Amino acid sequence: MNFEGQTALITGAGRGIGKTIALRLAGSGADIVLADISPDVAEVRGEVEALGRKCMTFEVDVTNIETIDAMVKNITDELSGIHILVNNAGITQDNLFLRMKSEQWSKVIDVNLNGVFNVTKAVIRLMVKQRTGKIINISSVVGFTGNPGQVNYSSTKSALVGFTKSLAREVGVRGITVNAVAPGFIDTAMTQALNESQQEVILQQIPLGRMGDAEDIANAVAFLASKEASYITGTILHVNGGMY
Ligand code: NDP
Repeated sequence: MNFEGQTALITGAGRGIGKTIALRLAGSGADIVLADISPDVAEVRGEVEALGRKCMTFEVDVTNIETIDAMVKNITDELSGIHILVNNAGITQDNLFLRMKSEQWSKVIDVNLNGVFNVTKAVIRLMVKQRTGKIINISSVVGFTGNPGQVNYSSTKSALVGFTKSLAREVGVRGITVNAVAPGFIDTAMTQALNESQQEVILQQIPLGRMGDAEDIANAVAFLASKEASYITGTILHVNGGMY
């Protein structure tokens, strides 16, 4: 796969899966825009540049439409367009439903779902003008299976399936593909927050007997972003070691 001459914008790219996706795409020739709410995002820049690619970083919150619009304007002033968008930023605020506060519900919907709306909305006009674009949303296995304590989170990840499939139908004619990757349990800060017995229960459900690595997800994203996947749109690629 070769992404030379293309720019990829990845949200939540300061660490974990987003950072690994950025390095994977850079390794195959893409220039990279890293967007993350955390100032740590600036530290990833050097790693991208060490791969010989251009890199811009933005400390932005995907729930803040104004800063997202300003970021996209900045990118188009500096780089040749945005060819790949990976909507990866996501959070959990777990609680059993009976104890879940409306703030926990709203916050997770705001980042995981409204954030995808905001960033896609800001980028898609550009992709329509370019008559080319690849949008990849990061869903989750729990959007398909459900998970106790994650009514808020799993609702957003299921919603991304509807978002992906409907938008794919709207923009296919304009040369834009829209797909999603649904990771299983991946070894990042998000899952390291689970206690040992929760991790044990999860491992028992995975036929391949291990949690995934961020690279497993990055490889799936790279495929969907590549020209080799040009005829794939509206699909959900499950990367979960066989658990679903
Ligand atoms: P991490 O928590 O390790 O990284 C997420 C990144 O997104 C962090 O840098 C975080 O910043 C940033 N972020 C959080 N909120 C915002 C915001 N409002 N605007 C911009 N950036 C934000 O998560 P993972 O790498 O594990 O997960 C990445 C994606 O993959 C998420 O969408 C997640 O739901 C999904 N996923 C993960 C799985 C897993 O097992 N890890 C399984 C299935 C799906 P900060 O550090 O400041 O919080």
